[in-house]
Amino acid sequence: MSGPEERATADPELRVRVPDELRFFLPARLRRRAAEDPEGVPCPYDGTSSLGHVVQSLGVPLTEVAGLRADGTAVPDSYRPPDGARIALTPVPRPQPLPPDAPSPLRFVLDVHLGALARRLRLLGVDTAYRNDAHDPELVRQANEERRILLTQDRGLLRRRTLWLGAYVRGSRPDDQITDVLARFDPPLAPWTRCPACNGTLVAVAKEEIADQLPPGTRRTYDTFTRCTVCGRLYWPGAHHAGLTARVDAARRAAEGDDAAP
Ligand SMILES: [Zn+2]
Repeated sequence: MSGPEERATADPELRVRVPDELRFFLPARLRRRAAEDPEGVPCPYDGTSSLGHVVQSLGVPLTEVAGLRADGTAVPDSYRPPDGARIALTPVPRPQPLPPDAPSPLRFVLDVHLGALARRLRLLGVDTAYRNDAHDPELVRQANEERRILLTQDRGLLRRRTLWLGAYVRGSRPDDQITDVLARFDPPLAPWTRCPACNGTLVAVAKEEIADQLPPGTRRTYDTFTRCTVCGRLYWPGAHHAGLTARVDAARRAAEGDDAAP
């Protein structure tokens, strides 16, 4: 069956159906086509590249794809489709099934652009490695050696073949990003147990022990304190506590999936 836009040449071509969840990865010129054309977007094909390569050339990271079908049959990303094949992508489900060697509880490493998300995850007690000066190879190495899921918005980073497990974080605002991560990975939450500054664990500390380190107003007002076992920072339920509690509650609700961001 041919549509109104006949192919002008005999160059090999695939048609790729991209589901709604993955269309934002496509180049702008293909997004509307992907939504409106039931046959999918046309994709030039050299006849030898793997299907995984084709999908990535459309801008879709393979970390975001749970399955590939060619003419209705499930195929691996190493598959080389015949000319004219109809390709369909399935997005990773939420929550995402994890490989058997995933640690419990889950750990993450975030790329340099996700500092605000790192603080939010730590605030929720999720083990989150982050440095604002980490280079890409270090991020991949840490992800692999420590079995941390690499979270990024850098598609090039997700394309690294050696990467154990990575994910593209949706959203530009940290609140949207954390909603996305919690919905996708559903990590166990333990708010107020981890240092937002350095990811160290927090332990309760007696007021007498630290009284000389506290501003007088704090010493008078608060009785419960925690200290980071790594960097020594002290925490107490200060003026920002109500805002943080609201944020923790919002993240928990989002993780339960009842008010996902539009
Ligand atoms: Zn710390």
